[in-house]
Amino acid sequence: MRRPLIAGNWKMNTDRAAAIALASGVAKGAAAFPNIDLVVCPPFVYLDAVRQALGNAPVALGAQNMYGQPQGAFTGEVSAGMLLDLGCRFVILGHSERRQIFKETDADVNQKLLAALAAGLTPIVCVGELLADREAGRTQAVIRRQFDGSLASLSAEQAARLVIAYEPVWAIGTGKVATPDQAQQVHHDLRKMLAERYNAELAAKVRIQYGGSVKPDNAAALLAQPDIDGALVGGACLKVADFLGIAAAA
Ligand code: PEP
Repeated sequence: MRRPLIAGNWKMNTDRAAAIALASGVAKGAAAFPNIDLVVCPPFVYLDAVRQALGNAPVALGAQNMYGQPQGAFTGEVSAGMLLDLGCRFVILGHSERRQIFKETDADVNQKLLAALAAGLTPIVCVGELLADREAGRTQAVIRRQFDGSLASLSAEQAARLVIAYEPVWAIGTGKVATPDQAQQVHHDLRKMLAERYNAELAAKVRIQYGGSVKPDNAAALLAQPDIDGALVGGACLKVADFLGIAAAA
């Protein structure tokens, strides 16, 4: 019922030529996956070049971040409207690197989320616990706090347009992967939070991706879990064969 969504977060990687080559490779292979939504999220400065390289291929464009105000004196920032103008349909919000390195709070994520939805973008909202949280048995509490804070004041109509990404921080870029059972447990908890806050029908529709060292050889077991609806991919999305290999596993 939920279409798998495989998104590649290129982070601060590639140069212009490499971005075009990577996008062209994904575009060329995308037709093999008519039942999967594919998204690439290059750095801001290459969005336009990547959009051109994608052409009419069934691959959506996403950004890795944005600012929560529509315009104004916010030096160095990028608005939701600017992303739409460049052809973006998705935006990643609250990635753990934004939360850890740039000290983004749940309130910041919430402001960006409301701005993204108001502009018509589909936000991919990231949540996930640190290793210390997991080891102390705080995973559920951390996810609940991020869910409540990041999604504060969202109406059901707005929540229905979200994608959530569960990304345990200890699994991002480390080669450590949550087991399918560990990931399924958190995805199940998130869907329950959606059902309790909104309703079961909405909860059954919202896609929840897993992220954290997803590779072609571990993707199938993760994506076979009933509440895992796709993957947010970091390292492996920088190689066409690996990104499309994950799509194949889905
Ligand atoms: C990410 O940064 O969203 C991510 C999941 O990275 P990686 O796949 O490299 O762990």
